[in-house]
Amino acid sequence: MKAISVLGSTGSIGTQTLEIVDAFPDKFRVVALTAGQNLPLLVKQIIRHRPEIVALANESLLPELKDRLNSLSIDQRPKEFLKLTGGPDGLNEAASWNSADLVVTGIVGCAGLLPTLAAIRSGKDLALANKETLIAAGPVVLPELKKSGSRLLPADSEHSAIFQCLQGTPWAENARLSTGIPTPGLRRIQLTASGGAFRDWSTEDLKKATIKDAISHPNWSMGRKITVDSATLMNKGLEVIEAHYLFGIDYDHIEIIIHPQSIIHSMIELSDSSVLAQLGWPDMKLPILYCMSWPHRLNTPWPRLKLTEVQELSFHSPDTSKYPCMELAYSAGRSGGTMPAVLNAANEEAVGQFLNEKTHFLDIPKLIEIACEKHKNELQVNPSLDDILSVDKWARQIVSEQVKKLLF
Ligand code: NDP
Repeated sequence: MKAISVLGSTGSIGTQTLEIVDAFPDKFRVVALTAGQNLPLLVKQIIRHRPEIVALANESLLPELKDRLNSLSIDQRPKEFLKLTGGPDGLNEAASWNSADLVVTGIVGCAGLLPTLAAIRSGKDLALANKETLIAAGPVVLPELKKSGSRLLPADSEHSAIFQCLQGTPWAENARLSTGIPTPGLRRIQLTASGGAFRDWSTEDLKKATIKDAISHPNWSMGRKITVDSATLMNKGLEVIEAHYLFGIDYDHIEIIIHPQSIIHSMIELSDSSVLAQLGWPDMKLPILYCMSWPHRLNTPWPRLKLTEVQELSFHSPDTSKYPCMELAYSAGRSGGTMPAVLNAANEEAVGQFLNEKTHFLDIPKLIEIACEKHKNELQVNPSLDDILSVDKWARQIVSEQVKKLLF
């Protein structure tokens, strides 16, 4: 029985993780939950999963959470030993909760950085969905992993595909874990991309893109931020940086391929020219489950892939002029140091402003480019955690000031 902590339990990744726990009650149990502010769902999860600790990012909602739990009937009410906590310290405490074997990181954005580090420092294995943490703070996260011996298992579907393919290489012993150290025999990574909500739109039509359009993904059901990232293809750019840090491969050997059916989740090319791919229906539960069961495979009742039903698998190169975010990400990744943290924070802020109707979809890459340009002369090559937190704050400010200028 593996004890699981779920950070961001009320989100898309979090709820799917809990569905897996429900499906395998003899394999997994929940010991810690964290949420932002969705109290109704969190209360249901507490009743269902009986965790040992619950942390709320929005600490001011703790009294309301306690009231809601106290008003439950006796049989639903959690046991006295449930610890309720909140704020940054509470999230860190839940992330490093002693009885956990695996921490699933489903918090969205750089807000996941400190809890992820807390989990790593306490030696926990991680199922990493919260990619922004690694992108912003790769130079800090990787040495911490080495120090604590924590294992980073990729939950992002593309990185899970790469990870799964690597299990089958002759160098499996070296390749099995994502350590940021170059993987022997791995020559090239091909990250597949659905093309996002606007893949069939012309550049001209993008001028009319609304929030509703941007959050309607053709193949995947995900949280709002990552769905917008998929529409700008920044998600793929972020995944390029994520792959660099996870598998220690240089940027010239990470390629993006548009594959509209989302059946091949990514591919690796090995030194002898063999290409391995992982296939499946687009469903995040599989990569999450693989992190939870690794190195084993569990028997699931999930629909089996039928290629005769899919019939066609197609591929083409991405249009970098329609989607400038990919090039911005490659460039930030190659610059290294604090630049990916600036890219990530500028993107989070720009997407947030778009979702709050303060800016247009097409402004997102422009805002990110402005922040990265301004940071060029200030780049720190070997940043500390404080450096990363400080440029994160700075980049958000730059974008928000710029949005105010665009509003005139
Ligand atoms: P959601 O928006 O659906 O969920 C985000 C979760 O984080 C919620 O539990 C939310 O709580 C919580 N949260 C929000 N703000 C904060 C904060 N400031 N501090 C602590 N917790 C907070 O996101 P997703 O599940 O879609 O994505 C989560 C992560 O996984 C992202 O990094 C994303 O890139 C990555 N990912 C997601 C995939 C997917 O299919 N969804 C696929 C691959 C990667 P509440 O709702 O209670 O406010």
